Amino acid sequence: MIDFAQFKNQAAAFLHDNEHNHVQKEDALRPDLIGMQIFMEPLFGVASADDPLFSKLLQPEVIDPNYWLPQQWLDGAKTVLACFLPFNPQIKEANAVDFSAPADEWLQGRIEGQEMVAIFGSYLRDQLIAAGYETVLPCTDSRFKMLEPFKSNWSERHTAYICGLGTFGMSKGLITEKGIAGRICSVITTAELPVTQRPYSGLYDYCTRCGKCAQNCPVGAIDVNADINAAKKHQPCDHFVTSTRALKPNQPNHKAYFGCGKCQVAVPCANGIPQGAKAQRNVR
Ligand code: SF4
Ligand code: SF4
Repeated sequence: MIDFAQFKNQAAAFLHDNEHNHVQKEDALRPDLIGMQIFMEPLFGVASADDPLFSKLLQPEVIDPNYWLPQQWLDGAKTVLACFLPFNPQIKEANAVDFSAPADEWLQGRIEGQEMVAIFGSYLRDQLIAAGYETVLPCTDSRFKMLEPFKSNWSERHTAYICGLGTFGMSKGLITEKGIAGRICSVITTAELPVTQRPYSGLYDYCTRCGKCAQNCPVGAIDVNADINAAKKHQPCDHFVTSTRALKPNQPNHKAYFGCGKCQVAVPCANGIPQGAKAQRNVR
């Protein structure tokens, strides 16, 4: 049996100390960003692999009938562990200065941050395997696939919702007790980790429908007057995010930089669950 408190402490220390959680010299978009920390202390949530909410993702109006359940990824799966890695406040503050283009800090969080997420997910998987449990990291698994544009056979945000980490916002990000701006990863394992009690029952319990995310959006991709399930239009968002690739062409490290995240900064849910939300408290 895993000592889960110790496991989480060790994982948080791994993230904090990892060199890839800091912008490397060869990747820095500005000299003053060398060494900038990307993620702060992570949140952890666990769901039973048999949680009936996973089956709900098969409904066409939720994700897709071809979505994969935890047992399809891993025969004998017992639990699913999801982690939310919140962005450093420096990244959020920098992205709240000019609402027409992503800040360099945000781009580093988006691109180098995603590399760190893959390293962190691999660490979680390998630690559980070393402890004697079969474990799969869907986001880097060769079986991971897109089912159609904007739909894949494993969703980190839906998994994090089921694992008790937070609820969706109008902008379709996941609002957690550490805010909405960050990245998510998850693993499926045969380890019987302690399941997190979800402190909410509704998909949008942490969103106050304040509409600030819509006001911040440079392309009007969020419609406050629409049903909240359909308020975010993926195509204009994706089109804008893709267009930002032109802002930092020909980088010495040959990476493409793109992003936006204006709906996740200078909003009531940027750093935590907003005041007035239906559910407030997280229970571990
Ligand atoms: S800014 Fe307001 S409406 Fe938008 S996701 Fe956050 S709480 Fe919801
Ligand atoms: S990421 Fe940018 S373009 Fe997409 S919804 Fe948010 S603010 Fe709008």
